[in-house]
Amino acid sequence: MKILVLNCGSSSLKYQVIDMDGEKVLAKGLVERIGMDGSKIKHTKIGLDAVTREVPFANHTEAIRYVLNMLIDKEFGVLASFDELAGAGHRIVHGGEKFTKSVLVTEEVIKGIEEVSTLAPLHNPANLQGIRAVMEVLPGKPNVAVFDTSFHQTMPSASYLYAIPYEYYEKNSVRRYGFHGTSHRYVSARAAEILGKDPKDLRIVTCHLGNGSSVAAVKGGKCLDTSMGLSTAEGLIMGTRCGNIDPSVMVFLMEQLGSAKAVSDMVQKKSGLLGLTGISSDMRDIEEAAEKGDEKSKVALQILINGVKKYIASYAAEMGGLDVVVFTAGIGENGIDFREKVCADMEFLGIKFDEEANKVRGKEKIISAPDSKVTVMLVPTNEELVIARDTLECIK
Ligand code: AMP
Repeated sequence: MKILVLNCGSSSLKYQVIDMDGEKVLAKGLVERIGMDGSKIKHTKIGLDAVTREVPFANHTEAIRYVLNMLIDKEFGVLASFDELAGAGHRIVHGGEKFTKSVLVTEEVIKGIEEVSTLAPLHNPANLQGIRAVMEVLPGKPNVAVFDTSFHQTMPSASYLYAIPYEYYEKNSVRRYGFHGTSHRYVSARAAEILGKDPKDLRIVTCHLGNGSSVAAVKGGKCLDTSMGLSTAEGLIMGTRCGNIDPSVMVFLMEQLGSAKAVSDMVQKKSGLLGLTGISSDMRDIEEAAEKGDEKSKVALQILINGVKKYIASYAAEMGGLDVVVFTAGIGENGIDFREKVCADMEFLGIKFDEEANKVRGKEKIISAPDSKVTVMLVPTNEELVIARDTLECIK
């Protein structure tokens, strides 16, 4: 049984075809610049070199039609016909409070996703375009919606409420939602599996550190708290996002810049590592610059390291203890130096780090010492696999 996994952005589309017998990726690809000049597709049939083609795509439907034709192509395809495809799983960024788990797409579900789109105006409409495109090109094929927010819906109100007048929660749904839920869910469950433990018995802090970063407290297999909030800008400093700041800074910036959009652009797209250093939003560039002595890069790095430390310690306090810390995503999986600095001087919390074991990238591995009270692990994330598994489950 094969599943198509789709992740639609406003002008992009990422896809994978996964054979669920053995959970193997058969093909993957990326379409960029949809609706713009120079749109192109990069398609890889696993085992062959990637093919890149410049193709004008006016919209997501055209892009998905092309992707589907690639999937049945004699040379680059992985399906004999669309009958082999059990269905499509879609990444949906925001499910609001409405969607607490993945669901089979119906007209009512589409309406529900539209309703919460005010909370993710850039992402949800693009995600919906993917659903509509598959409905149009492959009518009758089941579609499943998998939400970035749903794993965090187990948070108690003490974790998700902001201390502003309650009516803004009731009337405007202003609260913490949290994101990267499929990743936090996957790596926390996988960590328990690797350790041979029941997730119910574990207090885990999952650190998803990439261009966008978030940390989650997972107690007994359920999310208790997470660092991202109403939007993806809260929490740690990120590539271009500011993370936690005093709300008064926003008021000050509004007065200075005169428009909500200008402030939003600043805190979402011009802040974080890029804003602090003026060099780059990419961690590798910042580490390189810091090594060459760039003071601003050194400080930016330290702010991120302090941020991750603070979340690990505060979530340990919130969970009443700590059993496992998991690192994942681009920086978490590859940042050897970064992980070492985060875990340095954390013995007071029961973390005894193993610098030798830590010299690894992108592999499942325990990177704490055998006698460490807290197990520190590297678990590469696999959001596409979670989407495919949920899709299969919902279709069944
Ligand atoms: P992601 O959003 O998960 O793709 O992660 C992207 C981030 O991972 C970027 O900031 C990259 O610089 C960072 N990254 C990738 N490789 C490395 C590496 N070897 N060391 C440190 N950071 C890395």
